Amino acid sequence: GIGGIGSWRDAAEFVALGCGAVQVCTAAMLHGFRIVEEMQDGLSRWMDSQGYHSLQDFSGRAVGNTTDWKYLDINYQVIAKIDQEACIGCGRCHIACEDTSHQAIASLRQADGTHKYEVIDEECVGCNLCQITCPVQDCIEMVPQQTGKPFLDWLHDPRNPHREEAATSGKF
Ligand code: SF4
Ligand code: SF4
Repeated sequence: GIGGIGSWRDAAEFVALGCGAVQVCTAAMLHGFRIVEEMQDGLSRWMDSQGYHSLQDFSGRAVGNTTDWKYLDINYQVIAKIDQEACIGCGRCHIACEDTSHQAIASLRQADGTHKYEVIDEECVGCNLCQITCPVQDCIEMVPQQTGKPFLDWLHDPRNPHREEAATSGKF
């Protein structure tokens, strides 16, 4: 498994989705090889707490919780929320959203020269990138929104030109 692994929790999630091994690149570039030792230590402690003796004990256990994207609710919406008390003002979320997502995090210069970062709710598409980028655990929360819209998957979406065929066959 590879792609976005930067903590023992990420590694555990990849293994739970069936990976037999994980690869770390960017996180090691950012934090050095010590991050691998921290991941080994954290994973080992968590496995002890769960009574797991080997990766095989929980490998693939989360697969049953996944589904194909076409069955997901298109109208389900989350937006990011920054805990200002926990925020250390590093600005990573702002840079990530500004350069590679939807420019939905404002950088507000304060009187003392520091910056405060605030999500612009109407611009946020809930992509999760800022939360992944934030170095402070639980500082950014993805908050479900009450849209008032009914469940709609891609098989029944009016924008799907093959929806009638798809709805009966499950393909598109
Ligand atoms: S969830 Fe995505 S769009 Fe919303 S603020 Fe974070 S990075 Fe930007
Ligand atoms: S990445 Fe996290 S800690 Fe850094 S400014 Fe954004 S919310 Fe604050």
